[in-house]
Amino acid sequence: MRQAKVSKERDIAVSKKKLGLALVGLGHYATDRIAPALQNSQFWKLTGIVSGSPDKAAQWQKEWNLAQDNILNYENFDRIVDCPDIDAVYICLPNSMHADFTIRAAKAGKHVIVEKPMATNIADAERMIEACRAAGVHLAVGYRLRFNRFHRQIAEWGRNKTYGKVDYINAIFSINVGEPGQWRLNQTLSGGGALMDVGIYCIQAARYVTGEEPVSVKAQFGPVVDTEKYAEVEGSISWQMKFPRGTYVTAYAGFEHYIDELCIRAEKAFYKLESAFSYGPLSGILRTDEDHIQPIDLPNEHHQLMQMEELGQLISSGHPPPDYASGQEGLSDMKIIEAIYKAAETGEEIYL
Ligand code: NDP
Repeated sequence: MRQAKVSKERDIAVSKKKLGLALVGLGHYATDRIAPALQNSQFWKLTGIVSGSPDKAAQWQKEWNLAQDNILNYENFDRIVDCPDIDAVYICLPNSMHADFTIRAAKAGKHVIVEKPMATNIADAERMIEACRAAGVHLAVGYRLRFNRFHRQIAEWGRNKTYGKVDYINAIFSINVGEPGQWRLNQTLSGGGALMDVGIYCIQAARYVTGEEPVSVKAQFGPVVDTEKYAEVEGSISWQMKFPRGTYVTAYAGFEHYIDELCIRAEKAFYKLESAFSYGPLSGILRTDEDHIQPIDLPNEHHQLMQMEELGQLISSGHPPPDYASGQEGLSDMKIIEAIYKAAETGEEIYL
């Protein structure tokens, strides 16, 4: 008992010193989502940046009062080893750059938070996990919805069979990706199209609501609406997953229209989130019979702040990131993504 109290006090004492974080890649996600979370964080302090854009770097340095030594670019990144104020990096780069910068950060002794998808293939994901293990640093994937109350609620209902076994899940996440010519439409930088970028949320949801791994997948690429824009990656894809206890999942990811919902049919209820996967506000309903529909009444919180605070509390007190945001979790998704692409390309059911 006394031991637990002492260790709790120690955890809190350690966490009083904020962890220094360097953001790697100052695009939309770093600027609009992570930086505001850091401004409100109890556990993190922005102490460095890594950018290929000198103008942005100068602006951030001024705004955040950053030391000159902690302003790095992609070429001189390895100098991060000599930046004692940087404990961890948060990688917000195009997907194919995640592996290289994770491995370089690990070699420099820095903890890593890497955005989803953690890599563009299984081999890179495995190399990232191994590099962090060998260096004794933590690796977390930015699965922001794993820290979100709505998603935790439906995952709990699903896995605990609160309303009976989940028979069927339909998950759709489709966004307006925007202009041609961006990295998301470039196979080398993105590793794939709508599935890599937004389909991963549907895969995640199916896994955490069932608490199981899929047994097999089938998939179909959607029609190509713009042959120039989608010359390299898929603009849409639908797929189906069978889970070991019989749950059947249908899913769709797209780049042309905004659709954002997650429907779950269990033996004794139907529950649904809409918006489900975007930054929110999220909302949902629970229907336990024809006449009884109630809202899923939970507070909407800043996704990235929730993520950063939970990760920060754990890491600053010497604990690893939770399993649901670990490198292994990211690797599991990579295996499913590769199987879905193979299924779409071959027309076959692929067993995992
Ligand atoms: P952006 O295009 O907005 O930003 C990417 C940044 O990476 C650029 O601004 C640039 O920063 C840097 N960069 C380095 N090399 C390149 C290159 N060759 N082409 C383009 N950019 C380059 O992308 P996002 O911020 O939207 O996405 C970054 C990562 O975050 C992706 O992995 C994505 O999947 C993930 N993401 C996650 C979300 C979530 O909800 N969890 C939501 C959105 C994105 P600089 O100029 O500083 O060098």
